[in-house]
Amino acid sequence: MKLFESIVREGPLKVLPAPQVVRVPMSCHRPEVQCGQDVARGVHIGGGRYAPISGTITEVHPYYICITAGKEVQPVPKDLSGLRGDALRQVLGELGAKLPQGPTDTLIINGVDPEPGVTAFTHMLTEFGSVLSLGLETARKIYNPAKCVLAVEQGRPNSLNGCDPVHIKEGYPNGLNPLVVAAVTGKEAPEDTVVLSVGTLFELGRIMETGLPCVDVVLTANERNFVVTVGTPADTVLSEAGLSVRDGDTLVLGGHMRGEAAHSPQQGVDKNTYGLFVIRKGEYPAVIDAPCIGCGECIQVCPARIDPSTISGYAEFRMYEKCADHDIDACMECGMCGFFCISRRPLLQYIRLAKQHLAFAAQCELEPQREG
Ligand code: SF4
Ligand code: SF4
Repeated sequence: MKLFESIVREGPLKVLPAPQVVRVPMSCHRPEVQCGQDVARGVHIGGGRYAPISGTITEVHPYYICITAGKEVQPVPKDLSGLRGDALRQVLGELGAKLPQGPTDTLIINGVDPEPGVTAFTHMLTEFGSVLSLGLETARKIYNPAKCVLAVEQGRPNSLNGCDPVHIKEGYPNGLNPLVVAAVTGKEAPEDTVVLSVGTLFELGRIMETGLPCVDVVLTANERNFVVTVGTPADTVLSEAGLSVRDGDTLVLGGHMRGEAAHSPQQGVDKNTYGLFVIRKGEYPAVIDAPCIGCGECIQVCPARIDPSTISGYAEFRMYEKCADHDIDACMECGMCGFFCISRRPLLQYIRLAKQHLAFAAQCELEPQREG
């Protein structure tokens, strides 16, 4: 895989059947179901996660919930007809689609693939025109934009009815949302602009079709694209793609730059998993907690123009407020700093850790005081 290569995939996406057992990632969110409970597809099982299949809860683990298909429990779809604006946005939120608030002047649909080696987004544009059009119609009802734009990589012929195409310069990380907004509007973080990815449009389209949470995800594995059910074990997809994980390899959910290492090959894919990659033992130098040598490389490559070396240093010593003082909020989690770090420091991991702590602290401050 090259960092700045541009790949095009054509032909039908392979749709994998829903597995008998799904493992829905919970990321330590509190489960709201118990072992032995029968659930219908679309039922909320905790932490903004929904049952992707109807069946019985067979395991509740801090990292995932297992559902085994069996007893047929009928899902109850929501009636979304006649809703518009914020009311529609809120009901979609209850079905798992978290959307920014509107209305807005400019709606940007980001069709640029999110990472090198991932081709799922451009493939969706060619294969899922009607679902994406339904998603766009829904987004229009929420945001009532004066202008709709489809951002695609330079040289790509993709289009979406009702959107003006805008071509984004090739190469990572130019396709990330904040950089796409800047390229389209000429401004950084303008208040009158909302950007939704093609993946989000797909989710909206599927919800509108069924009245249920979207249970499908489109992802790239071994240069092929698949439509899979959320919670499908990663190794099921890998074997379809002709890939296997050997001793010492790292299985990555997402991509090389921003993905996260799987804790097990049976880990279920999430609705945001746009790629599965196996990094072979020794392919990259190992990431270690080595000291920063002050070379400044990470600052040079950071598209947010912040200082990843200083921020990660504060995060390492749990000085999270200092990270906030150094504009950690501006970080778009592109992973460029860690990729180019000569010391191989886990810069993105430190940044994510600090963001998580700051978000948690902010939440605690907002919690009302309990009377003792
Ligand atoms: S991940 Fe690193 S390079 Fe990317 S925006 Fe954040 S600090 Fe900058
Ligand atoms: S690239 Fe790595 S070693 Fe160089 S300044 Fe940044 S954190 Fe330090």
